[in-house]
Amino acid sequence: MGQRLVVIGGDAAGMTAASQARRLDGDLDIVALEKGRWVSYSACGIPYLVAGDVERLEDLVARTPQEFRDRHKIDVRLRQEAMSIDTAAGQIEVRDHEHGRTVRLPYDQLVVATGALPLRPDIPGINGETVLGVQNLGDAQRLLERNQRATARDVVVVGGGYIGLEMAESYLRLGAKVTVVDSAPEIMGTLDPDMGSLVRTAMIRHGIDVRCGSPVAAFEPGSVHLASGDTLNADLVVLGTGVEPNARLAAGAGIETGVKGAIRVNARQQTSVDGVWAAGDCAESFHLVSRQAVHVPLGTVANRQARVAGINLGGGYATFPGVVGTAVTKLCATEVARTGLNEWEAAAAGLAYVVGKIKATTRAGYLPEARPIVVKMLAERGTGRILGAQLVGEEGAGKRIDAVAVALTAGFTVEELVNTDLAYAPPFSPLWDPIQVAARKALGLL
Ligand SMILES: Cc1cc2nc3c(=O)[nH]c(=O)nc-3n(C[C@H](O)[C@H](O)[C@H](O)COP(=O)(O)OP(=O)(O)OC[C@H]3O[C@@H](n4cnc5c(N)ncnc54)[C@H](O)[C@@H]3O)c2cc1C
Repeated sequence: MGQRLVVIGGDAAGMTAASQARRLDGDLDIVALEKGRWVSYSACGIPYLVAGDVERLEDLVARTPQEFRDRHKIDVRLRQEAMSIDTAAGQIEVRDHEHGRTVRLPYDQLVVATGALPLRPDIPGINGETVLGVQNLGDAQRLLERNQRATARDVVVVGGGYIGLEMAESYLRLGAKVTVVDSAPEIMGTLDPDMGSLVRTAMIRHGIDVRCGSPVAAFEPGSVHLASGDTLNADLVVLGTGVEPNARLAAGAGIETGVKGAIRVNARQQTSVDGVWAAGDCAESFHLVSRQAVHVPLGTVANRQARVAGINLGGGYATFPGVVGTAVTKLCATEVARTGLNEWEAAAAGLAYVVGKIKATTRAGYLPEARPIVVKMLAERGTGRILGAQLVGEEGAGKRIDAVAVALTAGFTVEELVNTDLAYAPPFSPLWDPIQVAARKALGLL
């Protein structure tokens, strides 16, 4: 056996790093510790499992521990929680929940991939039986069991971000009356309020009751009390109140943390301590547009960072240049996406900008399948460098954000995007793609 690599956390980042390292180095002794009952699962699929699109919870598991052992020679240990890291001795204290004992596990190289923790605001009644989170497969199982016992008629979703929206759609499709509550004045805080309001209008059109600007004052069995004085019926409350990096274990070991308490890493995914690496929701990223450290808890970022860590651990050399903050979601027929910086993020980064905002259609306007789309693009005043884009539209809108993400990563100006040779035929887009129309509008304002 070669050196021992220990991975803490057995989901997207942890198992990607472990598998990638194994591909390059067949001799590494790789141990993956996971405190839960599943590894390599897709939390992203939970809303679709709850809605019934995905038949079984196990379908969200990409690979079982046995498959990792047999095919990749990775020793996956379930229900084993890393309690502390002794970086001087190169040892981890591990609590084996299965057998009720604690052991010390030596390592040569360590990957911290402990993910994120859901934020649970300190509200009376939040630990009640009918208030459920949605973060891992254990949560998914609880939601499924709840659905099997009795179909929820009145569902309140707290938090109007991506996960809140997706869970709202799931319960709407199960026939529930759904209310989304958000303490912020507008839904989808990662968008500018003018774009968020388009999402709110769409939600109302899809039959969701939206209550913005009214924090929850208390949860009670059967109801939710808002600070505004309103009371909502709720046989089920789903929390989508955001996450924070789960970096306490690393911080406790003296490993440097940064923005929002996430683990600080360099471009190779090395932490401040020799031999300790980090990737995924527990780690910082570098934003290619603002040139600042950010915390972007997304599966896309987790996988890319972990691949880089794995290559380095397997004896190769790789760097992760950074993120542009690209995300997409959908609520019924409405698709929502963003990349780069929004207005307040651009202002916070000290960038002066112009805004090109347009309404168009997803296909040639004369086709019956043409759907509305609104695109908002930010470009740096003077230089024309693209800073970001947001879009809200219907079928065919969302993934258009990828072209802007590529342009952003390449450092394009709006003029360069306007001149980019994008594909066109009437069933796919109008002659000028909506993102190019928004770029043209911004170009005219520089
Ligand atoms: C409902 C939902 C929908 C989502 N949808 C999307 C989407 O559409 N697109 C997208 O890009 N992202 C999405 N995400 C985010 C994505 O799932 C995460 O970014 C991704 O899972 C992060 O991977 P990770 O490995 O860093 O962390 P996690 O997936 O959180 O895994 C960390 C693992 O570490 C384990 N662990 C923690 N501490 C310890 C310890 N001390 N010892 C042992 N094990 C430990 C945890 O049990 C966990 O299994 C979604 C998330 C949720 C919850």
